[in-house]
Amino acid sequence: MKKKLRFNTAAIHGGQSHDPAYGAVMPPIYQTSTYAQTTPGGHKGFEYSRTHNPTRQALEKSLASIENGKYGLAFSSGLAAIDAVLKLLEPGDEVISTNDLYGGSYRLFTKIFQGFGIKFHFVGMSDVNEITNVVNKKTKLIWVETPTNPMMNVVDIMAVSTIAKKYKLLLAVDNTFASPYLQQPFDFGADIVMHSATKYIGGHSDLVLGALIVNDDKLAERLFFIQNASGAVCGPMDSFLTLRGIKTLHVRMKRHCENGKIVAEYLNKHPKIEKVYWPGLESHPNHLIAKTQMRDFGGMLSFIPKGADFDVAIKIVENLKLFTLAESLGGVESLAGHPASMTHASIPKKERVKSGVVDSLIRLSVGIEDSQDLIEDLEQAIG
Ligand SMILES: *Cc1c(COP(=O)(O)O)cnc(C)c1O
Repeated sequence: MKKKLRFNTAAIHGGQSHDPAYGAVMPPIYQTSTYAQTTPGGHKGFEYSRTHNPTRQALEKSLASIENGKYGLAFSSGLAAIDAVLKLLEPGDEVISTNDLYGGSYRLFTKIFQGFGIKFHFVGMSDVNEITNVVNKKTKLIWVETPTNPMMNVVDIMAVSTIAKKYKLLLAVDNTFASPYLQQPFDFGADIVMHSATKYIGGHSDLVLGALIVNDDKLAERLFFIQNASGAVCGPMDSFLTLRGIKTLHVRMKRHCENGKIVAEYLNKHPKIEKVYWPGLESHPNHLIAKTQMRDFGGMLSFIPKGADFDVAIKIVENLKLFTLAESLGGVESLAGHPASMTHASIPKKERVKSGVVDSLIRLSVGIEDSQDLIEDLEQAIG
């Protein structure tokens, strides 16, 4: 039996072997669309790069290894990976999803797949009764995001999986915010784990890439079929960069968590700050679930300045010098965002405010710089 690698070793060696051609230690970037055949069908397992590419395959094996899954599939973006999952469904099927969802996922669900006859229910999953209330014969998939973006709500994956198993529903978890270092949804009964590898897995803000990891053979076969048939695959260069990012995932995540804690505690004590959303704070409503489900609490947090409105929040994010005002998260550098006008602008205001994304909310992706410099930057920006 193959020995199971511990996480820090899996990040570097999982699913990898030296390149057979010249013994290259790093997987070469196989920048090719096609492969020579000696006779029709006489090839070495590779025919055309939409279907298979050795660099992508090395990445897919690594992804499976760090999520403790059997199969990994890499896509051109996180949304392309989600798109592939939804293509498992048919018109008339229903999906139950978390209500404070990543804006792009919400847009894909409501603006594309709803038009193809798939129905979506958006519920608050901290109370699992909200899920059972809408389950019916047409329900096929539960879509969980945890921690959620940007409110940092934590969903009890095990509790949701109990419902999914009872009603024979697929359970997919968007694990982007946690990364496989902090949380491995298969341990809690998930069927599909999804990542925007653009974020922590890539970790250097230099690529866009998506991933799915599954254990079930049939489900994997269908998803590989969809990946090839729909064609939203990532290129060899981005596959290589993502693999390179994975090799330091555990080191980066440890530091993201340390800095996240320092920044969250600083803001939490700040007289001009009303509220801080970070699952590591004991005051966080889902702190206990986070503690059992996650190894640590990550570097993502949101906060509301006291008495602030839209303009005050904008002023603060504009004042920041070290934190870059930008979309995205999970890179080595610290970023700040204003969800109401940036990542969540595509969600109607009424819907947005209902889930807590008010006009004055600011989101931080705390990077791995010196934490004292980050605190000093926040201090001058908050004033
Ligand atoms: C960024 C993100 C996505 C979408 O991924 P892309 O790589 O940008 O397509 C999905 N879910 C979450 C939680 C994200 O942060």
